[in-house]
Amino acid sequence: MSLKLDGRKLAKELEDRLQFEIASGLSKAGRPPGLAVIRVGEDPASGVYVSNKEKACARIGVASFGTHLPSTTPLPEVIQKIQALNANEKVDGILVQLPLPAGIDSTSLLMSIDPEKDADGLHTLNLGKLLKGESGPRSCTPAGIMALLSTNGISVEGKRAVVVGRSILVGQPMALMLQSANATVTVAHSKTKDLIDLTRQAELLVVAAGRPQIIGRDHVRSNAVVIDVGIHRLPCVGLEEQPQKPKLCGDVCFNEVASKVAAITPVPGGVGPMTVAMLLVNTVSRWQQHCGLSFNLGDLLP
Ligand code: NAP
Repeated sequence: MSLKLDGRKLAKELEDRLQFEIASGLSKAGRPPGLAVIRVGEDPASGVYVSNKEKACARIGVASFGTHLPSTTPLPEVIQKIQALNANEKVDGILVQLPLPAGIDSTSLLMSIDPEKDADGLHTLNLGKLLKGESGPRSCTPAGIMALLSTNGISVEGKRAVVVGRSILVGQPMALMLQSANATVTVAHSKTKDLIDLTRQAELLVVAAGRPQIIGRDHVRSNAVVIDVGIHRLPCVGLEEQPQKPKLCGDVCFNEVASKVAAITPVPGGVGPMTVAMLLVNTVSRWQQHCGLSFNLGDLLP
């Protein structure tokens, strides 16, 4: 049986560590760390993600400055909100929840965030720092995956890694982080021919295609490490009067793949909680820097 890479457990350990960091720095800083999550529109999944992030902030003592704007909000108005948060000294991190409603350009919004307060590491300057190996806030999902690998004793050095997906949110920064940890990385995307030939060669396979269960048993090699980033709500079956919680699945057929590989992340409970934990890491580390506190979280920022 393969090793289940338990993101929930590690996220809890990181929260404990962050809580300790906050308690240690609070009197010198004179204020808690602050995070603003900006949600625009009514995407239901985003509603759940934002609420999870705010609950995590409350658990460890990070103040929330979030705002929820209607999907009709004009771009300049959203940018104004971001600028006000840039100027607010109580705010250390700002995150724009993606996806945005059609017609709102994510690049302009991400570029309007002060790079010093970029809690998601997606500002062009911070992606450039990642590319050049300079320190800075890192994209939360891939940084969370790197933490999950290292704390489970999985070294990526010299490994043949395949990343399925090339988004700026996940695939691209993931490939850069793996490369800087000395993996040999191939990136696949929707125009890749013979995906299965590539994925079968992967000692480490990261799947972030946003396609439910596209990776089955035949796509993986024995003893590979498989990281499933995808998260999808399956249609509910059941009686209308007995509504059931929607079932979640990833981009990988967990039941087919788990018995063949050395280690795998479950969905839910794998990458998702690590994304939230790394958002907290980025926010608390920004706070430590903004308030002149000693910076103790460098090992978590790949
Ligand atoms: P995205 O922006 O839609 O990007 C998907 C990427 O996958 C694109 O690069 C696309 O290629 C590629 N792709 C699509 N179909 C493919 C196929 N059949 N074969 C190979 N590549 C294919 O999605 P994303 O934001 O990166 O997110 C990916 C998934 O991760 C989604 O399910 C999302 O909900 C989930 N996610 C989870 C977390 C978490 O915390 N668990 C965080 C972020 C995202 P092209 O570039 O050619 O279009």
